Amino acid sequence: MRKICLITGASTGIGAATARLAAVEGYDLALTYRSEAAAMAKVAEACEAAGAQVLVCQADVAQPSDIEALYEAIDDRFGRLDALVNNAGIVDQAVKVTALTHDRLRRMFDVNVIGAMLVAKEAVIRMQRQGTGGSLVNISSAAARLGSANQYVDYAASKAAIDIFTKGLADEVALDNIRVNAVRPGLIETDIHAKGGEPGRAQRLAPMVPMQRTGSATEVARAVLYLLSDAASYVTGTTLDVTGGR
Ligand code: NDP
Repeated sequence: MRKICLITGASTGIGAATARLAAVEGYDLALTYRSEAAAMAKVAEACEAAGAQVLVCQADVAQPSDIEALYEAIDDRFGRLDALVNNAGIVDQAVKVTALTHDRLRRMFDVNVIGAMLVAKEAVIRMQRQGTGGSLVNISSAAARLGSANQYVDYAASKAAIDIFTKGLADEVALDNIRVNAVRPGLIETDIHAKGGEPGRAQRLAPMVPMQRTGSATEVARAVLYLLSDAASYVTGTTLDVTGGR
């Protein structure tokens, strides 16, 4: 039987690469996007071509009603959930802490922290009800331990919150056979850098990486698929750096 996996923010970047790989590895998929409907359709098509059943939902994770509607759609279509990749996330323009505004901080934490926590909560409720265990992977960032001074300390702090949420939730649901882990990507070639105002950011910083290169979304996706899988059956509450050594 194919397992059901929800991937948030699957229209582009790491989420899209994870969806494509998960389809090949035998998951049926619930995929979400916020604004990139055309890109989402292409990813869904590729996943179906790889043999997956695919449910696509538009959902802003900063809107609790969208999360509710998303899970109603998953319940209707699949009636169960085995895996979650909690990937949807944002950065913002590079500024110093002295330039941070209340509006920016609210948005950053609404999407990256509160949204991710509510999405995880609903997944755990279903997995506990099913009684068959499950696996969650939260997408954190190397920023969670680097701090991102002079760029986006708010983003780094939101991802640090995800790291400790991962540990706390993992401990809480360990006896339900639900594993919760995080992946911390480093400098990965996706559109997120352009959205933060600097398309060439990953390339510019690549010399700071011990491996002297950026990573690809697929390299992150492979780590996510490992943590989701039974190959990681004794791995929970941990964070896996996919950073080229940075
Ligand atoms: P992308 O910008 O390519 O992808 C982000 C995804 O999240 C898109 O599918 C986007 O949807 C979705 N999204 C954004 N805001 C919301 C929202 N409010 N509600 C629901 N979905 C939303 O970036 P990446 O693939 O790089 O980022 C994926 C994750 O990886 C993020 O959590 C990011 O913080 C993390 N990460 C990335 C790194 C990198 O170097 N690329 C490094 C470390 C961590 P849509 O486009 O449809 O609006």
